[in-house]
Amino acid sequence: MFATDKIGFHLLHTLFQTSLKFENIHRYDEWFATSILVDNGRVDGVTAIDIRSGELVSFLAKAVVIATGGCGRIYQFTTNGWIKTGDGMALAYRAGVPLKDMEMVQYHPTLLPNTGILITEAARGEGGHLLNKDGERFLKRYVPNKMELGPRDILSRAEMTEIKEGRGLEGPYGSYVNLDLTHLGEETIEAKLPFVKELAERYLGIDPVHEMIPVRPGQHYMMGGVHTDMHGYTGLPGLYAAGEMACVSMNGANRLGSNSLTECLVFGAEAGIGAAQYATKQGPPSFGNPVQGLAVEEEKRIYDRVLKHEKGEKISTIRTEMQKAMEDHVGIYRDENRLREACRLIGDLKQRMKNATVEDKDRVYNTDLVSALELDFMLDVAET
Ligand SMILES: Cc1cc2nc3c(=O)[nH]c(=O)nc-3n(C[C@H](O)[C@H](O)[C@H](O)COP(=O)(O)OP(=O)(O)OC[C@H]3O[C@@H](n4cnc5c(N)ncnc54)[C@H](O)[C@@H]3O)c2cc1C
Repeated sequence: MFATDKIGFHLLHTLFQTSLKFENIHRYDEWFATSILVDNGRVDGVTAIDIRSGELVSFLAKAVVIATGGCGRIYQFTTNGWIKTGDGMALAYRAGVPLKDMEMVQYHPTLLPNTGILITEAARGEGGHLLNKDGERFLKRYVPNKMELGPRDILSRAEMTEIKEGRGLEGPYGSYVNLDLTHLGEETIEAKLPFVKELAERYLGIDPVHEMIPVRPGQHYMMGGVHTDMHGYTGLPGLYAAGEMACVSMNGANRLGSNSLTECLVFGAEAGIGAAQYATKQGPPSFGNPVQGLAVEEEKRIYDRVLKHEKGEKISTIRTEMQKAMEDHVGIYRDENRLREACRLIGDLKQRMKNATVEDKDRVYNTDLVSALELDFMLDVAET
C-alpha cells in the first residue's frame, strides 16, 4: 500500500470505515481503560472509565487485546502525541506480564525544539545540511561516508555531543543545532518539502527558504514493550498485545523507518486471530469474586484515593520532573551512575504521586483525573 506521505492517515480511515460495516463491533469512544481484571491466572476483562460521565465500568471478556501505543511522553522531548503515556504497558505490567527491551528507545535527530514536531528525513534526503553554531557540517566528524543520510541514532548522538561540547546554539526552548535547507531553493522546497515549510512557518514563524530551522534530537519510538510471541500472546492466558506497546522483538535495538505501521498491520492481525481462537474455547467469565472485588478496589483507588485527595502536589509538577529526570539520565547517553540516579528520582516521584492532588473534583469529563491516571502509568513505565 502506498499513499504518498499519508499512509498512516489512510490506514486509520480504512480500519475505522471497515469496522463500521460490522454490527457486532461496538465502539467505546472517550473511554479510558484503567486495569486488567485477572482471575485465577487468566484475563477476565478490563475496567474502564466513561470519560463523559465519569462512571467506572467492568467489561467482562474471554480475551483482551491491548493496543494503546508507545510511551514517549515519559520524556521531555518527544515526537509523540499527548496520548502516548504507556498505559497498556503499565496495565499489562501490573497484571504480571513482563516488559521487554525497555532500554531500547529510538531517538529521532530532527525535532522542532518548542513542540517536538518531527521534521521528516526527506528534508535531509533532499540535501538539507545539519550545522553547528560555527556553521560547520559536523557530521563529517561522526559519519563522514553518509553525512546527513546516516542512521537516526548516530545523528542524534552527534547532535547531542555537539551541544554538550559547546558547539550547539541556545534558544528559548533549550539547546539546538540548525537544519539548513536554504541552498535547496524555493522551487525544490515548495515542490518536495511543502509540509516541512508549512510546519516551520506555522510553529516557528520561520521560512526555510531563507532561514535555518532549529532542531534537536528527541524520543521517537519504543522498541521495547509488553513481551509477546509471534501471535501477540503475552503469556497471560487471554491477554494479547499489538502495536508499539508490544515487543514482538522484530525491531531489535533500532527500528528501521516505516516498520512500525507494517508491524501494526501484521502483528495486529496475528493478535486478533490469536485472541479470537482463544476466546472460542473459553466459557463466559462471571462477575463473581475475585473479579468483583478487583473492580470495587479499582473504584476505591480512582475515586477515593486519586480524585478525593486534597492539598497535595500538582500532577503537572510531578510529570515535568519525571520527564526531565528521564531526559537527563535515561536519554541518549546513559551510564551506571545516571541510571541509578534516575531510579532514585523516579522512586521518589512515585512516593510523591501518592499525595498528588487532582484539582478538578467533578466526575464529568475530568481530564485532570485522566492525566493523573496516565501519570501513574508513566511512572511505572519510566521505572522499568
Ligand atoms: C511523528 C511520528 C511520525 C511517524 N512516522 C512513521 C512512519 O512514517 N512510518 C512508520 O511505520 N511509523 C511511524 N511512526 C511510528 C508509528 O506512527 C507508531 O508506532 C504507530 O502509530 C503506533 O500505533 P499503535 O496502534 O500501536 O498506537 P497508537 O496509534 O498510539 O494508538 C493507541 C490508541 O490507544 C488509545 N489509548 C491509549 N491509552 C488508552 C487507555 N488507557 N484506554 C483506552 N484507550 C487508550 C489511544 O487513545 C490511541 O487511540 C511515527 C510516529 C510519530 C510520532
